[in-house]
Amino acid sequence: DEDFDILESVTDDPDAITYLPALPVLAIVGRPNVGKSALVNRILGRREAVVEDTPGVTRDRVTYKAEWNERHFTVVDTGGWEPDARGIDASVAAQAEVAVDLADAVLFVVDANVGATATDEHVVRMLRQTNRPVILVANKVDDVRQEPNAAELWSLGLGEPWPVSAVHGRGVADLLDHVLTILPEISAVAKEEVGGPRRVAIIGRPNVGKSSLLNKAAGEERVVVNDLAGTTRDPVDEQVEIAGKVWRFVDTAGIRRRVNLSQGADFYASLRTSAALEKAEVAVVVLDVTEPVSVQDLKIIDLVLESGRALVLAYNKWDLLDDERRIYLEREIEQDLSHVAWAPRVNISAKTGRHLEKLVPALETALESWDTRIPTGKFNALLAELTAEHPHPVRGGKQPRILFGTQASSRPPTFVLFTTGFLDPQYRRFITRRLREIFGFEGTPINVNMRVRE
Ligand code: GDP
Repeated sequence: DEDFDILESVTDDPDAITYLPALPVLAIVGRPNVGKSALVNRILGRREAVVEDTPGVTRDRVTYKAEWNERHFTVVDTGGWEPDARGIDASVAAQAEVAVDLADAVLFVVDANVGATATDEHVVRMLRQTNRPVILVANKVDDVRQEPNAAELWSLGLGEPWPVSAVHGRGVADLLDHVLTILPEISAVAKEEVGGPRRVAIIGRPNVGKSSLLNKAAGEERVVVNDLAGTTRDPVDEQVEIAGKVWRFVDTAGIRRRVNLSQGADFYASLRTSAALEKAEVAVVVLDVTEPVSVQDLKIIDLVLESGRALVLAYNKWDLLDDERRIYLEREIEQDLSHVAWAPRVNISAKTGRHLEKLVPALETALESWDTRIPTGKFNALLAELTAEHPHPVRGGKQPRILFGTQASSRPPTFVLFTTGFLDPQYRRFITRRLREIFGFEGTPINVNMRVRE
């Protein structure tokens, strides 16, 4: 029964995923100068102390791979944002807020010798509002006589303070043992899977040429992966070399298998498309140039945008295009696909093999944009320029201001603006548009989110 088979192959087959799952993420949060970098070095087992004693060195989040007791995880060092004129409280809390969103667990580091400051309390209020597990680290407890200082941090209401000396290593092993009991095996938040060729989903409505494209691109080179030996199930992914580079095409079984569905075809098709997108990093949406852009094509593109994957548009059956149709096609693209004008476009023929090699630079461009990270300093300098050039209009006697911003994540690039009030949708669009003009982001959706400070 084909219907049942498809449903099963997309929903019921977690074992089929053989790429490594995302590592759990541990974020290190705290005021400047409490010893975050020293703690990171200690966790990574590095000797060279990249410890900066002067507060106020602007540094972005840095991500490291760490290992403890044979478990691997990612450490995100939120560094120190230079507290600027707008106040240390706001900037440290904002930094923590972004980091916490991206973490499976948080180490909140306090200087036990200084005790809890107003800034620390500010961060604690924010941490309490999240549902992330928080471990309170009382740092700079270099010997037993300082332990009472650590105990005083119970007052923060985050549970037991873990006394450590990041510089001397005291207490760090116990702390990490405890961290491992809290971190999940597989991240609930990380989007970066580790290793392997980049993963591509070929999607599009029936008969646009997906399987022809796959066959032509793969030729004899294809290597079937995820073949579950001893089962009758179809293989799920295929590894293909194009122009010297290996790609992993995901859910190819769904493309290769010819299925005639009488009922619910749309539903199963979109289920299959969503499942492929879930596993992919970049989508190639195949369009048939001999036919007008359809509602179904647009739905499929919407699924890509919702999934946040990078996007390449492949206009197929170029060999069948005549001059008259070509003029219409250009017009249609301008009208119907203007919202994805940023996606690289390749004009191909899966039948003749025309320009198939152009898929590679298009995929590479899209993935590069998808991976892009704009350093916080640069982003804020740009925000200052944009808001000077075009301030937010005054609303009801008030003018919402952007205090600062940061790129919270890549894949796709996602920005957070910390503001003093709600920004008009037009104003957010203005920022988004200018970001695209400046950075390009060819081939990737971008998100600009807002956090209003009370
Ligand atoms: P899928 O349903 O998207 O996988 O589409 P198929 O790959 O099965 O292609 C549907 C039909 O279009 C088949 O008859 C193909 O031979 C034909 N086709 C696919 N690509 C091209 C192309 O570039 N040029 C021409 N002329 N025909 C094509």
